[in-house]
Amino acid sequence: MKDHIFARRKQLEKELKISLDNIGYFSQDSEKIEGHSCENFIGCAQIPMGVAGPILVNGKKHYLPCATTEGALVASVNRGCKASRESGGIRVICENVGITRGPVFKTRNLAESFQFVEWIHNNTVAIRKVCESTSSHLKLIKINSQIVGKNVFLRFSFDTGDAMGMNMATIAADDACAYILEKYNGARLISLSGNYCIDKKPSWLNFINGRGKKVWAEIIISEKKVEEIFHTSPKKIVEVVSQKNLLGSVMAGSMGFNAHFANVVAAIFLATGQDSAHVVEGSLGITTAEIEKNGDLYFSCYLPDLICGTVGGGTGLKTQKEAFQIMKVEDGAIEFAEVIGAAVLAGELSLAASLAEGSLAKAHEELGRGKD
Ligand code: NAP
Repeated sequence: MKDHIFARRKQLEKELKISLDNIGYFSQDSEKIEGHSCENFIGCAQIPMGVAGPILVNGKKHYLPCATTEGALVASVNRGCKASRESGGIRVICENVGITRGPVFKTRNLAESFQFVEWIHNNTVAIRKVCESTSSHLKLIKINSQIVGKNVFLRFSFDTGDAMGMNMATIAADDACAYILEKYNGARLISLSGNYCIDKKPSWLNFINGRGKKVWAEIIISEKKVEEIFHTSPKKIVEVVSQKNLLGSVMAGSMGFNAHFANVVAAIFLATGQDSAHVVEGSLGITTAEIEKNGDLYFSCYLPDLICGTVGGGTGLKTQKEAFQIMKVEDGAIEFAEVIGAAVLAGELSLAASLAEGSLAKAHEELGRGKD
């Protein structure tokens, strides 16, 4: 352990007259953390990790490392995983729409705002070259724009390979802005981020256009399996999904037309070293349930705004690396996003079934409060 980390913790213990023995007890590599993941480092917050699964996703089995303090969550996802194995698996499709950075510029009037946007679009080739010179993995996908009077918002979308890419996007957008200001006379950069990105906030722009990875997951489960595994019927699950996730969310003005995407996204993000603030974006999305002609249950989840990666950020830390090994994600960020999408579906299915059966409160009392 580095002396200065020990000294910082001891100083805090002395000043506050407390003991930090548990925060100070960890196996992470402090050199990797300092200067990369956390400043004024004193130790680690330990979050319990459970495993659910295996879950069958596009024909491959994965275990799910879930870091959480919510009793009943891992058991619930586990039940959805069982359904995946016994119903031919969850089919998932992922589209990489790119990570975004959205600077805001000031012009002198509306006409100049339109001229500026025209210049940007006429000079995309040169701007692309500048962006792509900042990284061997980053590609500029597109630049969208929006004008509000004397203000011009640009939204750069980047393919950042297997990295979540927010640092890469920020560095590339910074260089692009410097190039724009050098070549174009008549616009001033107000902020490298004008919230048109839009990062770490719930937003309709991200919901509709997507951000990071768009993920679609679906499963069909026979009526018999629904009864066997979930002790309820496809009809009751469809009613819960429709009245709760869709109508109830409208009544509440929610942007998450789902039961608890955030629970599963948060547990996997924490286990694998994702930026936990992006859970707010991963919570957006829609769950649907329908009855097939033969009475089977069709169940699907759509995640338009999943921000994740398998390299960079906190993914290289020791316990986070082990979590990736548990997941058996061997094919990079797209496969990772697909497994998260399937895990979210497993959680949605189990919770909808629990509500349909009327067992939600009992399960939480037993597993969340240790009562039986
Ligand atoms: P990063 O660790 O800053 O950069 C990823 C690095 O991985 C790049 O240097 C890239 O190399 C390298 N790399 C190696 N193999 C790669 C592959 N197969 N695909 C892609 N890259 C590969 O990570 P990041 O994902 O850009 O940023 C994540 C961090 O940003 C998190 O810690 C998050 O908390 C933070 N964050 C930053 C902002 C911001 O505004 N800066 C906002 C939100 C979050 P090359 O580029 O050299 O090719």
